[in-house]
Amino acid sequence: MHTTHNSPVTYQLNDKSEQAFTLNDAIGKNFSIKATGNIFCVACGNKTKNSFRQGYCYPCTLKLAQCDICIIKPEQCHYDQGTCREPEWGETHCFQDHTVYLAKSSHIKVGITRATPTRWIDQGAVEALPIYKVKNRLISGLVETIYKNYVSDKTDWRKMLKNITAEGNLIEMRQQLFSESKTEMSYFSPEISNGIEQLTEEPVVKIEFPVLEYPKKITSANLQKKSLFEGQMMGIKGQYVLLDTGVLNIRKFAGYEVEIEFS
Ligand SMILES: [Zn+2]
Repeated sequence: MHTTHNSPVTYQLNDKSEQAFTLNDAIGKNFSIKATGNIFCVACGNKTKNSFRQGYCYPCTLKLAQCDICIIKPEQCHYDQGTCREPEWGETHCFQDHTVYLAKSSHIKVGITRATPTRWIDQGAVEALPIYKVKNRLISGLVETIYKNYVSDKTDWRKMLKNITAEGNLIEMRQQLFSESKTEMSYFSPEISNGIEQLTEEPVVKIEFPVLEYPKKITSANLQKKSLFEGQMMGIKGQYVLLDTGVLNIRKFAGYEVEIEFS
């Protein structure tokens, strides 16, 4: 799903001929999504029987740097040991500026990204605040590891979908965390410290989602088990389409060929 940070967020999907259509247009309407049974790897495009890591074929999960464990745990970056699966990909994706941020959804959490505000929208955050700009992905992971001692790095997606939002002021939280983490942050080598810029003046980014009504109970649809998911569309939040019959994580079924109808 492609997202644009409008008020509210606009969600778009591409059809077979790569034409984008706006999913927001289906809100309030009867909506159905049906998996045809075909799955195509999001990286190589080959047909695959099963999808791994949200849309990859099995060979790609073994081969691509973007499927390596260091993508989830950047502090385990092993580029400097000469064992990066795709050093060139690493240079264009990992050795780029990253943002360490605080975001508010079910919890106040810390996270890292290269893609703001897309990442925040994907997580269903209603507020986000960049707190550091760092030189590469490895450093962002090291900073996040320190911050995880003070603040969660997870979102409870069920609470997020029910619109149960954490209390707290991100600006105050930023100041508090800057002082709490000061000692640990001072232990970095100069080489790493020089790659960290503290952001003290950034404003809070607010995100509004197109939702008519939030579900009270969460029933999660699985296109792999049941190919048809239908109902009245109540809205879209994070990576989820909310119908009155349940919720569907669209990202989880990336690569699935589907037929979508709404009226
Ligand atoms: Zn593949």
